[in-house]
Amino acid sequence: MNQFVVQKHRATTLHYDFRIQIEGILKSWAVPRGPSLDPTQKRLAVETEDHPLSYAHFEGQIPEGSYGAGEVIVWDRGECLYPSDPLHQYRQGKIKFILKGEKLKGEFLLLRTGPQSGPKSKWLLMKRDDSHISYEEITRSKPSSVISLRKLED
Ligand code: MN
Repeated sequence: MNQFVVQKHRATTLHYDFRIQIEGILKSWAVPRGPSLDPTQKRLAVETEDHPLSYAHFEGQIPEGSYGAGEVIVWDRGECLYPSDPLHQYRQGKIKFILKGEKLKGEFLLLRTGPQSGPKSKWLLMKRDDSHISYEEITRSKPSSVISLRKLED
């Protein structure tokens, strides 16, 4: 089973760290506006460094002086399914996946906007049209951590 996690992170700027498991690691993107269930939204997602699977459970404070210093909550998590080989899709710059989270459900797409994958490459995160779409802004309607019920103020 592959997993995903979305960590809401207040560092220098507030953003959502969107991480999906591919081949035993968490491929990661920083999404300033967060994910959406609205299929008309295209959310900028800047690829960041891979993280170990163990990081999927992290919630708390990254200490002052460390990279990304600030507070983190686990905003959503669950299973991630791929219709075809995810590493191949990642290299091609077009990743189709299905999320089975507590908040994010259904088909999504990450689409690279430039020539190469890797840290700092720019992607768009989009909800694909299916029975799980919603036009309500889920980051606002469901702001709390799925493990502690804590919130980060916007
Ligand atoms: Mn972050």
